[in-house]
Amino acid sequence: MSTLKNTDKQYVANTYSRFDLEISHGKGSLAYDYDGKEYIDMGSGIGVTSFGYCDDIWQEAVKEQLAKVQHTSNLFYTSPGAELAKLLCEKTGMDKVFFGNSGAEANECAIKVARKYAAEKKGAEYYNIVTLNNSFHGRTLTTLAATGQDKYHAHFNPLTPGFLYTDANDIPMLEEIIANNKVAGIMIEIVQGEGGVNPLDASYIKAVNDICKENDIVFIIDEVQTGNGRCGELYAYMHFGIEPDVVSTAKGLGGGLPIGACLMSGKVSSVLSYGDHGSTYGANPVCCAGAISIISRIDEKLLSEVKEKSAYIFSELEGAEGIESVSGMGLMIGIKATKPAGEIVNKCIEKGVIPLTAKDKVRLLPALNIPFDLLKKAVQIIKEVCAEG
Ligand SMILES: *Cc1c(COP(=O)(O)O)cnc(C)c1O
Repeated sequence: MSTLKNTDKQYVANTYSRFDLEISHGKGSLAYDYDGKEYIDMGSGIGVTSFGYCDDIWQEAVKEQLAKVQHTSNLFYTSPGAELAKLLCEKTGMDKVFFGNSGAEANECAIKVARKYAAEKKGAEYYNIVTLNNSFHGRTLTTLAATGQDKYHAHFNPLTPGFLYTDANDIPMLEEIIANNKVAGIMIEIVQGEGGVNPLDASYIKAVNDICKENDIVFIIDEVQTGNGRCGELYAYMHFGIEPDVVSTAKGLGGGLPIGACLMSGKVSSVLSYGDHGSTYGANPVCCAGAISIISRIDEKLLSEVKEKSAYIFSELEGAEGIESVSGMGLMIGIKATKPAGEIVNKCIEKGVIPLTAKDKVRLLPALNIPFDLLKKAVQIIKEVCAEG
């Protein structure tokens, strides 16, 4: 075994089962191992490196901020956090933003906002948050409770109380839960990412929006994975003409630096007041400078390229040999193959392509700006691997 693998196995907590690949460096959508072998990256570090590895424009923005001030804490004013919040609000119509460092933290903030809003408006007993079965909202004890998958809950009970689960796309089931419980908020992913790249039905998304409005329930959309251009709009909810009260995001926002954001609409934007929430690293200037660079570049031209590339992937893979179905939205794609997903990923890595898995699917989350020639090459290799008997 290599020295890196040995050191990792000996000293890093055993929480990850890694693919057999040691990445040394990368540029754009190409990654390289220590032997100099080249790979086309179709995973972006789980949808994080929105413009690929070490993108020049992003790197300049980060370097410039790094040379000015790397951190001050939230006791003082710094420009990148304020500018990023302004940019996000202008592009979404939201009113205020809270910054943390991860998706889980963005969701923790969203849950706190919903609970405080409901407590003040309806009473403290309105604390329940409804989430979907098969969802994924994070690994902290509260976001684990929000995650509607038992396999993540085992060994860690009791989790934070006050979470109720309902089946995706089942409107009567949701109505019944709301009728029989005191509900503060509903949290959904537009496309369940970790759950296997399953988009919700458009009619369900609209129904949840209406149910929230009718019952004054805080509508939270977890855009940690679907957001920041990934699904062909700046945020995936924008495909549906709906108005969420809270949008949480992270992953692709920083382009590779840790940042999470909880966007709040006018209805809930003044719920949090002094001392209600905080994060030492929150709005870190370097991470925010990177995020400003990312968000500024997600324009109509880029989004239409995302849609075009998505259509290409669907047209190549749907109905291809060894592929049962293709799901997803934009450049967030799940492939159900006849062979196990893990086996396909390993074979792809051998052939110089890096996809990911999500449950029983092969998952693709390439950089939003992946060049068409690299995308075509990668898709052909994935197709070949799926077709092999
Ligand atoms: C990844 C993910 C999270 C958790 O984000 P972390 O940054 O790992 O805390 C939450 N929600 C969704 C939908 C995710 O995909």
